[in-house]
Amino acid sequence: MNILVINAGSSSLKCQYFAAQKSIASLLIERIGEAQSEATLRYNETTYKASKHIANHHKALSLLIELFKTEHILEDFHILDAVGHRVVHGGEHFSEPVKITPEVIATIERVIPLAPLHNPSNLEAIHAFGAHYPTIPQIAVFDTAFHQSMPPHAYCYALPLELKEKYAVRRYGFHGTSHSYVAKEAAKMLGRPLETLRLITLHLGNGASAAAVAYGKSIDTSMGMTPLEGLMMGTRSGDMDPAIIPYLVRNGFEVDTIDTMLNKKSGLKGICGTNDMRDVIARADKEDKNARLALFMYTYRIKKYIGAYAAAMGGVDAVVFTAGIGEHATKVRKMVCDEMVWMGIELDTDANEQMINDGGTISMPKSNVAVLVIPTNEELEIVRQCERVLNEL
Ligand code: ADP
Repeated sequence: MNILVINAGSSSLKCQYFAAQKSIASLLIERIGEAQSEATLRYNETTYKASKHIANHHKALSLLIELFKTEHILEDFHILDAVGHRVVHGGEHFSEPVKITPEVIATIERVIPLAPLHNPSNLEAIHAFGAHYPTIPQIAVFDTAFHQSMPPHAYCYALPLELKEKYAVRRYGFHGTSHSYVAKEAAKMLGRPLETLRLITLHLGNGASAAAVAYGKSIDTSMGMTPLEGLMMGTRSGDMDPAIIPYLVRNGFEVDTIDTMLNKKSGLKGICGTNDMRDVIARADKEDKNARLALFMYTYRIKKYIGAYAAAMGGVDAVVFTAGIGEHATKVRKMVCDEMVWMGIELDTDANEQMINDGGTISMPKSNVAVLVIPTNEELEIVRQCERVLNEL
C-alpha cells in the first residue's frame, strides 16, 4: 500500500512516504511560524534544503504537496491508500488506530486540554490535508493507545476518584507506537510469540519512558497523565514529590514558571546544564561532578523501573533499549545493566560496545533475561497500523 505518514509537532511537520512498507522519501519542515522556516527533503539518497517563511501547518502541507509533485515523488496524491497521522493524545477514547471521521475529530478536540501543545497541531495537519484531498482516507494513530490496556490499579492516581471522572486525571502513558513496535520486533528476534513474553521496553530519547509489556499488552508505563512523569529525561524532571509544587508556589514561584522549569529546565539539563547525553557522557568521563551525578541519577532511575516492572509482571524475559540514547549510548546501557545478575541480567560487555547502530542481542547466552537493542521506527509502525485499519474497512 502507499501511505504518507504525518507527524505534526507544535512548530514542525515530519512526513514520510512509504510504498509497500518501504520508505521512499521524507520531508522535515522546522520552525513553522518563524521568519525563516527550514525544509529538508530526503529522496533517492539526496538531501535538498530550503529556507523560507512558512506561516502555519496549512502552508507547510501545501509545500509538501508542491515539493512531492515537482520532485516527481508523488505526482498524483490519489495513488495514496491513506495518510496516517501520529496523534499524541487520544484520552480514554482510543485503544486502536481509527479512520478519521467528523466524530473522531470532535473527540480529539475534546482531549486538547490533556495535550494543549500537541493535539491542536495534529488537528491542523488533518484539516489541511482533508482540504486538499477530501476523498483520501486519513487515519489517526495515537501515542496513548497502546497503554489503554493498563489495568485500573496501574492507571489510577491515589487522588480523590472524582478527579478522574470530572477532569480525566489518570495515567495514560505515551510513546505507545514505539513501545508496541519494539515489543513486536523483540518477539521476532527472540523467535517466540509476543503473547508468551514479558518485556520491559525502554524508550530513551529526549523524552524517556519505560513500559511493562506482558504477553503482548502494556500493563504499566512510566509516563502518566502527561509526558512529565516517570524516568529522568533530557529536560523533564520525571518522578518527584508533588508537595514540591505548592512549596514553590508558597515561596513566590508562578505556576507557569514551575511548569516551564519541570518540562524544559530539569532532568539532565537541570542537574548538569546539558540535555544532550553525548555531552553528559563526555563530561562525566572527564570527572565533571555534575555530569557524573546526572548520569548516575538517570541510570539509577531506569534500574528502579526495571525492578518494579519485573515485580509487576512476575518476571521478565527481555529488556529492550531503544531511541537515541537506548540505541547509541553504550555507557548508559552498561550502567543500567550493572550488578543486575541477581535478577538474571548478564550483559555481554563486548557485544554492548560493538552495538553501535544496528539492533541485536547484548546479553550473554547464559543470561536468563535477554537484553536487546532495537532501533525504533515509529513511522513504519504507523504504516503497519494504517494497513490494518484499511484491511478491516
Ligand atoms: P527525540 O526524543 O528528540 O526523538 P532521540 O530519540 O533522537 O530524541 O534521542 C536524543 C538523545 O539521544 C539525545 O540525548 C542524544 O544525545 C542521544 N544520543 C544520540 N546519539 C548518541 C550517541 N552516539 N551516544 C549517546 N547519546 C546519543
